[in-house]
Amino acid sequence: MHALGRVVETILLSVIWIGLPVSPIFVSLLAWDRAYVRNYRQTISRLARTLQAMAKAEVIARRFYSEKRAAEQGTSWKIEGECSHCGECCLFKACVFLDSDEHGHSRCRIYGNWFFRQLTCADYPISKDDIDLYACPSFRAEPIPQVSKVRLGRHAIPIVARNAAPDSTVERSASTRP
Ligand code: SF4
Ligand code: SF4
Repeated sequence: MHALGRVVETILLSVIWIGLPVSPIFVSLLAWDRAYVRNYRQTISRLARTLQAMAKAEVIARRFYSEKRAAEQGTSWKIEGECSHCGECCLFKACVFLDSDEHGHSRCRIYGNWFFRQLTCADYPISKDDIDLYACPSFRAEPIPQVSKVRLGRHAIPIVARNAAPDSTVERSASTRP
């Protein structure tokens, strides 16, 4: 599945690279901001860095396996923490939509719109892998104590099927009672 993801990613990123010269128009429409077209050369340069970062983070390929990995890791790790808006998970601060507020906190220029909701960054972080990928400084993956070890320790609790055949030894001992 990972191989398929890599193939799809290579094709899609190649198509976007080819369409790079007209991309500022789409970016401008998505962010509803004409500045992306006005500052055409700057937008192209930012888009190029965005695409390089997408390849580095395997943003498209990861969609083919990240949910499965998250489900697997979800039994062993729980995610804790609160975002400090450093912007690192926005493609290593290279996303063309990344902006910052007056306090230097990261701000997404398409936050909440329909396109944003299609992106994996909208749900970040969903797994330990996610946190490791961008070295998020504020969320952490804490190991979940394994319930069987904590609650049962070395003691074994026998489990008997309700419709199991009566144990003849038990019946025999009961019948020898005075
Ligand atoms: S890397 Fe972590 S702290 Fe930084 S913006 Fe993303 S979620 Fe927030
Ligand atoms: S949250 Fe916004 S700025 Fe960050 S990666 Fe996603 S689209 Fe880009």
